[in-house]
Amino acid sequence: RAKSTGHNLYFVYENQMADNINAHLTLGGGLRKAIENEEFELHYQPKVALPDENVVGAEALIRWNHPDLGMVSPDKFIPLAEESGLILPLGEWVIRRACRQLQEWRELGYPAICLSVNLSSRQFMQADLVDMVQGILEETGVDPAYLELELTESMLMTDAKQSIEKLHSFRELGLTLSIDDFGTGYSSLSYLKKFPIQTLKIDRSFIHDIGIDGDNDAIVKATIAMAKSLNLKVIAEGVEHRSQVNALGGYDCQEVQGFLYSKPLPSDDFVQFMQKQVGHESFALVETGSL
Ligand code: C2E
Ligand code: MG
Ligand code: MG
Ligand code: MG
Repeated sequence: RAKSTGHNLYFVYENQMADNINAHLTLGGGLRKAIENEEFELHYQPKVALPDENVVGAEALIRWNHPDLGMVSPDKFIPLAEESGLILPLGEWVIRRACRQLQEWRELGYPAICLSVNLSSRQFMQADLVDMVQGILEETGVDPAYLELELTESMLMTDAKQSIEKLHSFRELGLTLSIDDFGTGYSSLSYLKKFPIQTLKIDRSFIHDIGIDGDNDAIVKATIAMAKSLNLKVIAEGVEHRSQVNALGGYDCQEVQGFLYSKPLPSDDFVQFMQKQVGHESFALVETGSL
């Protein structure tokens, strides 16, 4: 009996592997064409300031609108794009699309919000990354103060010295810099002080159990206190419940982001969401045609 179970497991495993390989080939092979066919889009998730809960920014998150598979999540194709190197043209597309979106909102007369984009590790190592971003800023006319880059600890720590230089170049361009998924990677506190960053995004794994798990509360509280003393802004990601907002507000967390407020939205829906927000009168004015 044990033997046959072992056999079944073996076949299950083998089939799963075949599935993974198929998915790998289908997605990987499709990526190159997908860039040409413009099958990607950016969705925007609002960032909300506490305690007023005004929308003060958004994170741009890529989606692949696959002709057969429908919407494919970035967790599935970003690693493939990294492996194949296609992340470089794809990453450039993301930055250009985000900047064009900022300009579009500006031309429509909406109040300026800060838009953040995620970088991948290979993209961060790209030699001409800073020049590329500068080129896109010039081409689109975006005020760099409204563009934020989200980087992870492991990305920065791979070659900390070089990272610091790169971050300084971005600061010279006028961009804002943020550490994403903070607490999940390893970064030494001494380096945290050397990186010219402005924001820490606490990973959602710590936010999930907040108010339930005393350890996570302690971690979040300590992270916020540390960020404060380093003059960094803190944002909590993955906020789904009111109780989490209450706890975070109590710890003096400045911003929150999560499904409680909104999922990442296509640009039209994002604008509608903004129009419904109290405290965003100019978005409302645009809708009623008063501008
Ligand atoms: P991330 O940058 O940490 O983005 C946050 C992820 O959490 C997003 O998943 C978002 O949809 C999800 N999320 C937001 N609020 C909640 C919540 O309340 N509950 C839960 N359970 N999840 C929430 P998404 O869009 O699937 O992106 C996954 C990851 O893919 C991102 O993690 C980021 O690392 C990467 N990614 C997304 N877009 C890009 C991109 O344009 N370039 C690169 N290089 N990576 C990207
Ligand atoms: Mg992010
Ligand atoms: Mg994150
Ligand atoms: Mg992440």
